[in-house]
Amino acid sequence: MLIVQKYGGSSVANPERVFNVAKRIIDTYKQGNKVVVVLSAQGKTTDELIAKAHEIDPNPSKREMDMLISTGEQQSVALMAMAINKLGYPAVSLNAFQVGMHTNRTYSNARLKRIDTERIESELDRKNIVLVTGFQGINKFDDITTLGRSGSDTTAVAIAAALRADKCEIYTDVDGVYTADPRIVKDARKLNEITYDEMLELAALGAKVLHHRSVEIAKKYNVELVVRSSLNNSEGTIVREVCNVEKMLVSGVAGDKNVARISVMGIPDTPGKAFDLFSLLAKNKISVDIILQSIGRDGTKDISFTLARTDLNDAINVIKENLDRLGAKDVVYKEDVAKVSIVGAGMATNPGIAAMMFEAMYNAGINISMISTSEVKISVLIDEKHTEEAMNAIHDRFRLAMER
Ligand code: ADP
Ligand code: ASP
Ligand code: MG
Repeated sequence: MLIVQKYGGSSVANPERVFNVAKRIIDTYKQGNKVVVVLSAQGKTTDELIAKAHEIDPNPSKREMDMLISTGEQQSVALMAMAINKLGYPAVSLNAFQVGMHTNRTYSNARLKRIDTERIESELDRKNIVLVTGFQGINKFDDITTLGRSGSDTTAVAIAAALRADKCEIYTDVDGVYTADPRIVKDARKLNEITYDEMLELAALGAKVLHHRSVEIAKKYNVELVVRSSLNNSEGTIVREVCNVEKMLVSGVAGDKNVARISVMGIPDTPGKAFDLFSLLAKNKISVDIILQSIGRDGTKDISFTLARTDLNDAINVIKENLDRLGAKDVVYKEDVAKVSIVGAGMATNPGIAAMMFEAMYNAGINISMISTSEVKISVLIDEKHTEEAMNAIHDRFRLAMER
């Protein structure tokens, strides 16, 4: 079998963990499998590299930032190759350049376009265990790009798809996908299975156990994923197209603190203004999430929207530069907000779900400042300081619904 495994940063955080993972990889190899392993940077390396950059410039060039933060993954694969060699087995480490992992040109949030498989395949034919850097790619200028935080999951799934691997296993520091982050909600339950669509929503809404792009690629190429612990042998969670178990109303709760809210005040209440504002943001590659427009009064209106906190500076700058052209009076923002969401395939046909969620928030005394709903999710925007409390209150309210 051809097996792709991915180990996250905490699974390779120190020499002891590196050897623990090396032994697991060797066990898989010894069973006669071809093994490709994608690794993340050790422990908090990526955060430390970002902090180092900010000591030089709080707003560094994105190209140089990618050059810097991609180095963590290169350390991991080289160290792992050394550990596997030391244990007496053949291994070779490869970075994005050596493999040929091609992305679009967008620094810091690049999308994979194509992965060359020749080098990996020839190393496998030479009986090597192949260790590939997660998170990084190269663009058409031969520059290093990165895939966004948590992007190593995406590298792994994309490689599994490109190689038509028999298995793609994501090893992490929890036993699988839970009904909520088990570090925040103590009675969260592990799910045996979850569909791509539900996992996609949970990941996009902040459940960082999988990078949302990785789930998109898994769904597109029908790669079945297993999420499990690198520290024990428990079974983990299978992510796939259909699940055998009965569809539940709500399959999970997610919280996201990488959120900020911008309000553009006093925009003329005339056609085309929303178009002007959001096409300006789109042109600058800034994605927006929840949008709320006030009812026009005295010929003007306010438009508020949420976006990733990491895009806040860029967004404020472009809006300020264009304030006159938009005809707006002012732009204000709030950073200490968070989005809490519930996800479930059964939601569309059950009108009571939203009310149950709002009731949980009311009972916890937490104010909701924005709401967004779709067929499979409901999200509320709240003060950041209430995130954990809100997740627990909502999880409690839906506890029965989450029994699988
Ligand atoms: P890795 O370094 O292995 O990629 P991450 O820290 O990126 O690990 O992701 C694993 C973490 O995701 C867990 O430690 C957990 O705190 C968090 N998490 C958030 N939501 C969930 C969820 N629904 N199920 C499991 N883990 C979750
Ligand atoms: N090292 C990168 C990060 O910390 C990528 C990853 O861990 O998946 O975001
Ligand atoms: Mg991760």
